[in-house]
Amino acid sequence: MENKAWTDHPEDTIRQRIEAFVAESPENRMAQLDGAPFFDAPLVGFADGDDPLFSQFKMIIGPSHLTPREWLAGQPNAPHASLERLSVIGYILPITEETRVSNRAETRQPSLRWAHQRTHGEEFNKLVRRFIVDLLRKAGYLAIAPMDSERWEAFYEAQPGHNAKPPFSNWSERHAQFVAGLGTFSVNDGLITPRGIAHRCGSVITNLPLEPTPRDYSGPYDHCLLLAKGTCGVCIDRCPAGAISEAGHDKEHCRAYMANDIAHLREDWGLAVPGCGLCQTGVPCEYGIPE
Ligand code: SF4
Ligand code: SF4
Repeated sequence: MENKAWTDHPEDTIRQRIEAFVAESPENRMAQLDGAPFFDAPLVGFADGDDPLFSQFKMIIGPSHLTPREWLAGQPNAPHASLERLSVIGYILPITEETRVSNRAETRQPSLRWAHQRTHGEEFNKLVRRFIVDLLRKAGYLAIAPMDSERWEAFYEAQPGHNAKPPFSNWSERHAQFVAGLGTFSVNDGLITPRGIAHRCGSVITNLPLEPTPRDYSGPYDHCLLLAKGTCGVCIDRCPAGAISEAGHDKEHCRAYMANDIAHLREDWGLAVPGCGLCQTGVPCEYGIPE
């Protein structure tokens, strides 16, 4: 069942539906605090599912990182089951001003508002992924969110033949956003987008042909002042764990800080994943691409 919404500029249809869902969903609310939204209006971008970058990630990350074509293989039949053209839909959910401001004032641990966003905001992020998958499937297309797939796998130990340092997984949301024109990587392992580095993100793979979003950058680190120009480094000083240096982000050190030094927050606040995010607030890339 095909209609114009899916044949004439389907990118507009998808973008508008995601924007409306984020704006209107009651789940995008800090229900246990004051009911304010977790996230502002999303950024949405599209990538060609056969972009050569996805194959290159098998060398950059490791062979276990699957391509969009590998993710869609074996999906159940649908009216539009052709695998001739694949697309990846990426989106960024910018964290609201109020939450950023609260975290900016912190120096050792996340603010309560940030921690709610990290735990319950991520639950809403899952709903966004599911919303997009349902939208496409109802229109007769194949769709899968790798993060929600039974095949999604995380690795917490170094893997033979892999360049990625653990933890990593067989689908990187940030790498998908990079291909979809939404931002570039940073020294603290974030993604600096036109709405800054303080966000959650997600992606969905489909066989609906979509016009790829142009990438207005040439290198993987263009938006990080330290990696692109050798200046800044503010996030290094913001990190209470000493987990960031000019050499990069020590994931193990970062994880250990959250698992040990501030683990009490889980019990204190009754939140499964309070996070930290100090390196994403109070930094020049917090709101956008830094000058
Ligand atoms: S604070 Fe500066 S060095 Fe750190 S990620 Fe942002 S731009 Fe890069
Ligand atoms: S690197 Fe980890 S510990 Fe350091 S500020 Fe960022 S999230 Fe916190």
